Amino acid sequence: MSGIGCQRVIAAEKMGYESAPFTEAGLIVMEESTIHEGLVREKLRNAGIEVLEAGVCQQCLDEFKESRGRIGFHVEYKTPLIRAIGHLDGKILYEGQEYVWENKALGRFTWDGFKKTEFDENIGYANQIGMYLKATGFPGAIYTVKSRDTGQILIYSIGNIPEGLMKQLSKIKGTTLGHIAVPDIQPALDKLNWVELCIQDDTLPEGEYELGSKECRWCNYKFLCIRGEEEKEPDEVVDVDIVTAAMIYKEAYQAKQKAESEIEENKLILLRHAIDNKTPKYKVPGFVNVSYSGVKTKKVVDTKLLKELVSEEICDKVIKNSRPWDDIRITVSRK
Ligand code: SF4
Ligand SMILES: [Zn+2]
Repeated sequence: MSGIGCQRVIAAEKMGYESAPFTEAGLIVMEESTIHEGLVREKLRNAGIEVLEAGVCQQCLDEFKESRGRIGFHVEYKTPLIRAIGHLDGKILYEGQEYVWENKALGRFTWDGFKKTEFDENIGYANQIGMYLKATGFPGAIYTVKSRDTGQILIYSIGNIPEGLMKQLSKIKGTTLGHIAVPDIQPALDKLNWVELCIQDDTLPEGEYELGSKECRWCNYKFLCIRGEEEKEPDEVVDVDIVTAAMIYKEAYQAKQKAESEIEENKLILLRHAIDNKTPKYKVPGFVNVSYSGVKTKKVVDTKLLKELVSEEICDKVIKNSRPWDDIRITVSRK
């Protein structure tokens, strides 16, 4: 559930795409983030707050045979279509009640950006907390955002946090307190459902960000978006036919995106009607006929595991290439 980030990354992980190995710079950033998490944890503890930590997740280690950043308290959220797994950085224990604790350590520019827009522009952070609260059933969360440069910490209470706990937090030097309501997780669930449908359809959903954005910076699946063209600046084309085609493409693409999200949104309403009213078959005259045949799954081959279990020779025999196609990738500019 890490940030409920890019839908393409979520799908790629579930479809068994092998991610690029962490770069040395990426590993240093992860290490730094763990160090800062430890520093914030220490500050909380010095303020008399009980913070529980879990270390590497044994449950994920048993299931996925590798730890790979899965550190913290294991939480899951399941719907008929999805199983979202996440890990809490920690739990705060206050007067016998547990609360979610999540921490982000940000570099200079990201910190400046976050301070300006907070969770409005960082919806992924809010989604993550919303999902954690839903999955744990805890009444609230404490979200700490630390500047790696200045050591300042923004502390947000989310949901119901006792006044006494906030008082203790306010004693920590260099902190600013804030509050946000429990985020609505429906958009995140819609996204995850959409990803699941794409996977069942054997298609990789579009990347959600523009290459070069902060979201793509440390993405280990960037190769799915850039295909090795990273360094080359694209040529600028002003030919009338091409500009017209590009314009129509962009408009049609945006209309398709809007239509797809409306289809998904309303499909869920129609599905809920079928399930809640135990009416697997119904029609809305003049509009739609609905036929619900229960929850289904598709069998997929875990190619990553297969490669570990059998020889390359056998892998080559069972993994077939599809028909060739022209590999063109078009991303729509936001401006
Ligand atoms: S590079 Fe960016 S858009 Fe592409 S998969 Fe990664 S996060 Fe998504
Ligand atoms: Zn786990």
